[in-house]
Amino acid sequence: MSESFYRYEVIVVGGGHAGTEAALAAARSGARTLLLTHNVETVGAMSCNPAIGGIGKGHLVREIDALGGIMARAADAAGIQWRRLNASKGPAVRATRCQADRALYRSFIRRAVEAQPNLTVFQAAVDDLIIEGDRVRGAITHTGLRFVAPAVVLTAGTFLAGKIHVGQTQYAAGRMGDPPATTLAAKLRERPFVVDRLKTGTPPRIDGRTLDYSVLELQPGDDPRPVFSFLGSRADHPRQVPCWIAHTSERTHAIIRGALHRSPLYSGQIEGIGPRYCPSIEDKVVRFADKASHQVFVEPEGLDVTEIYPNGISTSLPFDVQLALVRSIRGFERAHITRPGYAIEYDFFDPRGLKASLETKSVAGLFFAGQINGTTGYEEAAAQGLIAGLNAARCVREREPWSPRRDQAYIGVLIDDLITQGTSEPYRMFTSRAEYRLQLREDNADLRLTGIGRELGLVDDARFAAFARKREAIARETARLGALWASPANGLGAEVARVLGLPLSRETSALDLLKRPQLDYATLLSLPSLAPAVAAPEVAEQVEIEAKYSGYLERQRTEIARQQRHEASVIPDGFDYAQVHGLSAEARQKLQRVRPETVGQAQRIPGMTPAAISLLLVHLAREQ
Ligand code: FAD
Repeated sequence: MSESFYRYEVIVVGGGHAGTEAALAAARSGARTLLLTHNVETVGAMSCNPAIGGIGKGHLVREIDALGGIMARAADAAGIQWRRLNASKGPAVRATRCQADRALYRSFIRRAVEAQPNLTVFQAAVDDLIIEGDRVRGAITHTGLRFVAPAVVLTAGTFLAGKIHVGQTQYAAGRMGDPPATTLAAKLRERPFVVDRLKTGTPPRIDGRTLDYSVLELQPGDDPRPVFSFLGSRADHPRQVPCWIAHTSERTHAIIRGALHRSPLYSGQIEGIGPRYCPSIEDKVVRFADKASHQVFVEPEGLDVTEIYPNGISTSLPFDVQLALVRSIRGFERAHITRPGYAIEYDFFDPRGLKASLETKSVAGLFFAGQINGTTGYEEAAAQGLIAGLNAARCVREREPWSPRRDQAYIGVLIDDLITQGTSEPYRMFTSRAEYRLQLREDNADLRLTGIGRELGLVDDARFAAFARKREAIARETARLGALWASPANGLGAEVARVLGLPLSRETSALDLLKRPQLDYATLLSLPSLAPAVAAPEVAEQVEIEAKYSGYLERQRTEIARQQRHEASVIPDGFDYAQVHGLSAEARQKLQRVRPETVGQAQRIPGMTPAAISLLLVHLAREQ
């Protein structure tokens, strides 16, 4: 075989959500990329529930899309029930979620990977990384093949020393049906990474034909349906199906309480900490002991399969208890379980060992992304994958790394939180984690990121052309409305008073009228002097939100500009904090532990005082 078969610019290990976005981003950036993964059939597989998006997570999906990533388009091709969450709330927290057909999602991702120029796939288990000194050089497979590259992105998910628990039974696995990465985990533990254990869990799957839907609550999707990708449309969506809602009963809870002594969670058999916001049903019954019932969302696994995913009853109780608790739910009396629920424990690395580029601080050229950095969720994994893949390709070409700031993207919030604060439990995204929420909306992810993505080489011509047209249309419509004046004396002013019931006391532009809470774009543009509305809905949405929230947005932008001074103050690599006079031992210790890349990041280290930051700023200014 030729030498080139083994030689690449970027190697990505793992074909999950982080790995596929990483491989695609590296290849899009022009790097000759190899994706090494256990099994080509499981590329893009959803390990847990077949759903994409949700509050905070949907924001990540739109940002990935704005940067040319694949997740939103795969969701559009696979989404079989769609919802716009928080639709009646402010634009910052509105979010998209879809139930996905698992098989359609996976095959879309696989096709995209196979169609991507510069990207090659090879099926193999990676057992070790080639590391020389403090540099990565490649990866070695279980059969001893050595693939070399100056940059490697590791995205091994829940597979590193993965251990499955069903009751007292435990065995090594990466997820049910897949082998663990045991050798690789052992090798990585010999390297200078801080390793710990986390756990997550999944519910039993059920044959939907054995449920009594007549007693379940129907949950149809929204009409009109939202669309995930900025390039997508409803025509991309497959056939739609509803979801259903069921409820656990007092009997369910009694069954669980009676079996807690057999739960690996409560017997001490599981050491890893689980996701706080996705607790198992046994956890919920213990933690919320006063609640008589919990909701169970009955979600189809796909259009051509009969299995359903009962969202809300993730469990690692013994199988006989799982069967009893499932059958105690109204409508589930005859339920047939097709796969048991289980918990899985796995190794993850302290993300404080990473730079904002997701390159490890201790091994040059080695990037970590996804669940191995302590996160949970497909969206969080994919977002990191995209950044790691991009930066792996940039590092090979000796280009500056790029990672979005906290005010630019939820992806920036995610990475900054991880590398600054670390995590002791699986980290998932929420809108409450972002301080600049109003700025970081799902609807404007393209305006925030597509231009940058284009400069980075991540965004192709078609996406950029569509984006540029939209951006111009927004500017045109904003200027048009800004130049249309309504006054107490003119015709438009009279229409505003007569049709809208808003008498004017002074001259106002049509754009300023949009700031009024009771007025939206469609209503304003229905005035005879202004009709018909000329802007496409996505353009109108931007014009309206920017006008309505201009005061808040302006204040946020001023605050961001002020903070920018700290974000731009770089702390040199290997900086010696002992030189900073007056710094307390505690502050020094914290700074040494995290080794922040900027003063902005230093400021966000938990417990860091304004006094310590001032001392650091003074010292850095003196050094320059
Ligand atoms: P994964 O999707 O796990 O992909 C890892 C990939 O790497 C796989 O393709 C694997 O085959 C490959 N790989 C691993 N090691 C090697 C190796 N040595 N050589 C070659 N290939 C390798 N998320 C939630 O948000 N909520 C939940 O409730 C939830 N519950 C979960 C329950 C279970 C049981 C599991 C397994 C996962 C759950 N998740 C949940 C997590 C979600 O599945 C992950 O967050 C997401 O899949 C992480 O993506 P990733 O790309 O990091 O890893």
